[in-house]
Amino acid sequence: MVPFIDLKRFEPGFLEKWYAIIRKLSVNAQFVGGVQIETLEHRIKKFCDVSNVISCANGTDAIQLALRATGVGPGHEVIVPDLTFWATFEAVVNVGASPITVDVSLNDGGIDIEAFREAVLFARPKAAIIAHLYGWGTKDLDEIRLICNENNVILIEDGAQCFGAIWKSKPIYSNTFIATTSFYPAKVLGAAGDAGAVFTNNSKLAEKVRCLSNHGRSSHYGYKYVGWNSRMDSVQAAFLNHAFDYLDDRIKSRRTSDQYYRKNINVSDVKSMSIPHGYGENGYCNVMLIEDLEFKSNLEFALKSAKIGFGNIYPSTISEQVCASKYSKRHFGGQNSKKLAKSVLNLPLFPHMTTAELKEVVDTVNSAR
Ligand SMILES: *Cc1c(COP(=O)(O)O)cnc(C)c1O
Repeated sequence: MVPFIDLKRFEPGFLEKWYAIIRKLSVNAQFVGGVQIETLEHRIKKFCDVSNVISCANGTDAIQLALRATGVGPGHEVIVPDLTFWATFEAVVNVGASPITVDVSLNDGGIDIEAFREAVLFARPKAAIIAHLYGWGTKDLDEIRLICNENNVILIEDGAQCFGAIWKSKPIYSNTFIATTSFYPAKVLGAAGDAGAVFTNNSKLAEKVRCLSNHGRSSHYGYKYVGWNSRMDSVQAAFLNHAFDYLDDRIKSRRTSDQYYRKNINVSDVKSMSIPHGYGENGYCNVMLIEDLEFKSNLEFALKSAKIGFGNIYPSTISEQVCASKYSKRHFGGQNSKKLAKSVLNLPLFPHMTTAELKEVVDTVNSAR
């Protein structure tokens, strides 16, 4: 028995220290704003090598804030990958813009560069969102940033899954125009509830994001924009500050476990998705591709029988969702996304898995068929 994810596997002393922190916050009724938020934003700024960090309520709001702050709204088209979490698509619709789906690459799960280029040149969208899935980014990140820059397309990077990932020896967010993340509990840095953040190296944009996330406020009762309340609360910030102390070890542990799978699974029909050259993964997710669908269903049955959890991230594409065609009228590129959705299987991966657990998973996979 191995769970797909175990959020309760805290380090020794983690909970005791947390109880002391939450006690202090409670005694002081420090629930919104304050030093925990400031400390967290400062730490993230350093960790992600970006000049501005704005904490917010969740990762979906972070995308909506990025869209609103960059002026995306009704009448605009926005590129989204056909394989990502639904929130990427949803955020575009929620700001009143129209999503265009673009196919992804089977190599790294990132957007397909040729389809992306075609969409930029033919659709001339206002903005594009790419998602850095699984714990790394696309091999074409620099080129995508360049294409957007040259064609006046606002590039928003949905980095909900890549917190802690490295690109060319620097944090992946380091050279971003604007990026977002989520601190949902199951992400690499997880809160005690919902939380998120926006990163940007543009200070004016940062100011607008901050303003929109706090009712569009310019003074306590003065409003420059219609925003909404998307503040991160201090309890979440305190938990994240606390978890930050353990983050390097957790990432190391996740990566070691993923590498163990990559090294020890030796079934020819099961291929680990390759991490593009230049990336250091954060170990968010293990990604196996199994094209033989009959074998895949046998393997899933074997895992279920052994009470080993697994995931299919994601089992269907954005454009396949029942309501998608109502909002998205165009698709660029082929159908790799559908192929990936059918063949993807994720093995258990979370911090501090034991060798016995990893071995149990590997043995089950290696002896399926
Ligand atoms: C988790 C996730 C989100 C949404 O984050 P929430 O905090 O749950 O709103 C958006 N995009 C991707 C790719 C995600 O994995």
